[in-house]
Amino acid sequence: MKKQFNPERSRGAKPKVAFFDFTDCEGCQLQFANMGQALLEVAGLVDIVNFREIMSEEGQDYEIAFIEGSITTDKDVTRVKKIREKANVLVALGACATIGGVNGIKNRAPLELAKERVYGKKSDTINTINTMPVHKVVKVDYFIHGCPAYIPEIITVIKCLLMGRPYVLPNYAVCTECKMNENVCRYEKDQECLGPVTRAGCNSWCVNNGNRCYGCRGLVDNPAADGQKDILLKYGLKLEEILQHFTLYNDSMGEKYDQAFK
Ligand code: SF4
Ligand code: SF4
Ligand code: SF4
Repeated sequence: MKKQFNPERSRGAKPKVAFFDFTDCEGCQLQFANMGQALLEVAGLVDIVNFREIMSEEGQDYEIAFIEGSITTDKDVTRVKKIREKANVLVALGACATIGGVNGIKNRAPLELAKERVYGKKSDTINTINTMPVHKVVKVDYFIHGCPAYIPEIITVIKCLLMGRPYVLPNYAVCTECKMNENVCRYEKDQECLGPVTRAGCNSWCVNNGNRCYGCRGLVDNPAADGQKDILLKYGLKLEEILQHFTLYNDSMGEKYDQAFK
């Protein structure tokens, strides 16, 4: 039977951590590399055995696996299942892994048509399946949302993980954080924003920096879709406009998205 990760038992012996990338841009792993002092502190608490962006060695003995990227081929399915069998703790890192992310745009069209559009006459030679987030294939213990993942949340999740505690995802909208940060609402500036239905946890990162929310952290569990529609109506926007932006990240979340907005 597989050992459970136990921080008490592991005291003294650093847990071995491995990072694996699937279909993605590796930007979330880059966020780790960008953690600066915090990365050094994390490196003091764990033994990183596999992390392509910062080391050339490839260790296959690990207890904690970070999965970056979405699942888009049969080989991916087999590979992530093998990693799950080996890991005591599995973390989905970034929007590609947690909600399918940008790669999910492929799911808008029938698979054969999507392949043909990208690969033309060579599409027959391409083996691909509809994009899936990691939890559609294997059990995920911790989710770190975002494109890219937000460094303060990465650190919080690592602390929880090392203490053997769950990380409770925020289940309220980005607007809550945005209001606490006293931003002027983008709707007041004639822009649509997905903050009202998007899961918080990034401290309204984009809005704080003069942008709007594109929904990269996925929907809150019970999105106030009617409220979002009312806002659009109030500002004279069309539902189609916002849906176009919303599917940038959430195409792989099929039913949840459909239930909320169609
Ligand atoms: S979530 Fe975004 S930044 Fe992270 S790997 Fe995917 S595309 Fe790159
Ligand atoms: S709609 Fe966007 S800009 Fe307005 S409060 Fe919500 S998150 Fe902030
Ligand atoms: S503000 Fe929206 S798009 Fe930006 S990081 Fe947060 S959830 Fe993602």
